[in-house]
Amino acid sequence: MLKRIKSEKLFLKAKSYFPGGVNSPVRAFKSVGGVPLFIEKGRGAHIWDADGNKFIDYCGSWGPLITGHAHPAIVKSITGTAAKGSSFGAPTRLENELASLILKNNRYIDRIRFVSSGTEAVMSAIRLARGYTGRTKIIKFEGCYHGHSDGLLVKGGSGLVTLGISSSAGIPEAVAKETLVLPLNDKAALKQAFQKYKKDIACAIIEPVPANNGLLLQSRDFLEYLHDLCASYGAMLIFDEVISGFRIGFTGAAGYYNLQPDIITYGKIIGGGLPVGAYGARAEVMKHIAPDGDVYQAGTLSGNPVAMAAGIAQLTECLKPGFYENLEKKAKRLTDGIIPLLGNAGTVFRIGSIFWIAFTGRKKISSSSEIDPNSMLKFKLLHAALLERGVYLGPSGYEVGFVSSAHTNKDIDNSVRAFKGALEAIKI
Ligand SMILES: *Cc1c(COP(=O)(O)O)cnc(C)c1O
Repeated sequence: MLKRIKSEKLFLKAKSYFPGGVNSPVRAFKSVGGVPLFIEKGRGAHIWDADGNKFIDYCGSWGPLITGHAHPAIVKSITGTAAKGSSFGAPTRLENELASLILKNNRYIDRIRFVSSGTEAVMSAIRLARGYTGRTKIIKFEGCYHGHSDGLLVKGGSGLVTLGISSSAGIPEAVAKETLVLPLNDKAALKQAFQKYKKDIACAIIEPVPANNGLLLQSRDFLEYLHDLCASYGAMLIFDEVISGFRIGFTGAAGYYNLQPDIITYGKIIGGGLPVGAYGARAEVMKHIAPDGDVYQAGTLSGNPVAMAAGIAQLTECLKPGFYENLEKKAKRLTDGIIPLLGNAGTVFRIGSIFWIAFTGRKKISSSSEIDPNSMLKFKLLHAALLERGVYLGPSGYEVGFVSSAHTNKDIDNSVRAFKGALEAIKI
């Protein structure tokens, strides 16, 4: 049995400080059971917990760590910058540098604004869309996560086109009903929503690679239909690329599908493991943001130099020739290894270096209603059995895994061996 004595002690203490003992709910291990591991350190593809257990990590801090833990170039960039002062509340050269790295290599946006989290990026993008169009309603899709701001913590009621109902306490009904929630991959529902609400719709927001509720890959055809409907009704299309940005290629899903949204949000990878989010659009749209325009958005620590330095170092790695090709090869090596081990019980979905293990047979899944909640019990068993064998997956069956450039073929092969042992042990 995995020794968790120190993690247990730390968790007990943490519960006396924080709700549920954590500062973000999924970390509490509620859906897989047991005590969360308290992480002591990470290097490359590995993490060590407080009890000294070592794991091959496929959570990667939920996405940001595309170059692995403590990448030497990132560490150097952070420490060098921090030594010169950590925040000024005034512009620095580093903001220009990160912006230039991004904008020069991404033809889908030509102005950007840095914020401090994905939630903030999305919240600001929605405000911009509303300010720009002068409309109020927004469309979101069931199974997409866009951070925890009020208007986006909303789920659909029953029926094809419904006004949202809040999925958290503390959200006014008046806010929730400005959000229309539609099923993914459903053209009819989308068309009906636009026909019904027409010029009330400020924007539609989607994770073009939905990766927060399983990996619900959409067809390009559906995304293009969404793009075209938005255009014809004068609504803005927001691609929330907080996960997919810089992950499935440097230009994210916009580049992968070659579709031009009106606004794109980023987070996670962009900050190299430090808190950075961003939103970008064409110049004509971004000029509506203060101080140029009348859509207000600000941040004491926005564009923080240490965070910029981390982002610059990481994105510089991402831009090296062959980076994404190599990453994808490794991810494919992993999933090619795991899929046969699952037999008829499930499969692994993958795009680039994002993968999701699903225990719902071998069929393709593209909307959240197709996920069998009972399958999560199997994930729970797998998660525990993998921990015993030195592999760390994010502690929820609805979460995807990430391969980093720090994973070696040996790490991958060891992981496949661990999966084999784990699956045999739990007899799925
Ligand atoms: C993680 C995520 C967010 C929220 O970002 P935070 O930095 O956690 O606030 C928003 N949208 C998507 C698609 C995400 O994956």
